Amino acid sequence: MTKIIDISLPIYQSMPVYPNNPPVTIKPLKTPTTYISEITFGSHTGTHLDTPRHISENGLGVDKIDLNQLIGPTRILDMTHCQTGITTKDLEKENIKKGERILVKTKNSLRGFKNFYPDYIYLEGNAAEFLAKQEITLFGIDSLSIKQKGNPDVRAHTELLNNNIVIIEGLDLSPADPGNYNLYCLPLKFVGLDGSPARVILVSS
Ligand SMILES: [Zn+2]
Repeated sequence: MTKIIDISLPIYQSMPVYPNNPPVTIKPLKTPTTYISEITFGSHTGTHLDTPRHISENGLGVDKIDLNQLIGPTRILDMTHCQTGITTKDLEKENIKKGERILVKTKNSLRGFKNFYPDYIYLEGNAAEFLAKQEITLFGIDSLSIKQKGNPDVRAHTELLNNNIVIIEGLDLSPADPGNYNLYCLPLKFVGLDGSPARVILVSS
């Protein structure tokens, strides 16, 4: 039987966001006959896609990302042993192949997402370079940013996005064991934007 695993973070008023990003506000409104809501949020809220536009003025926006990149076979790697950054050495053992969609499950998923923790596990610059060389299609991580907070090494973003490898940040991989799945990631179709929240699910057959 098909099993669906939701690996998206819930979006709610005053939820944790990455420092210096806009807060989420949700205001209930009423028309004469219905209830509606006014929502404000940053483009990198919760579980979201980073697109090449995030680091380059002429980079592809979220509406232009090929959905074939975002839907298809994916592999969750067990990186729960990492204490700080995920290194090239950690990834070299995993036999990563060209075109793969790779998600990494780290201690972030074990700690939970009720608060923002600045000491989250991230992807090291060298490891991003390694993934770009492997020509993967997509990389997903269970932290609100792929790069270490405050580190001037921006390669985690640039090595992937400049090579059209899209990034999913803010995954909650606590309900999923490492292994093989089918991934469905559908960000909203914001024209030209640097990113967008997305509903992301895994389907196992
Ligand atoms: Zn982002």
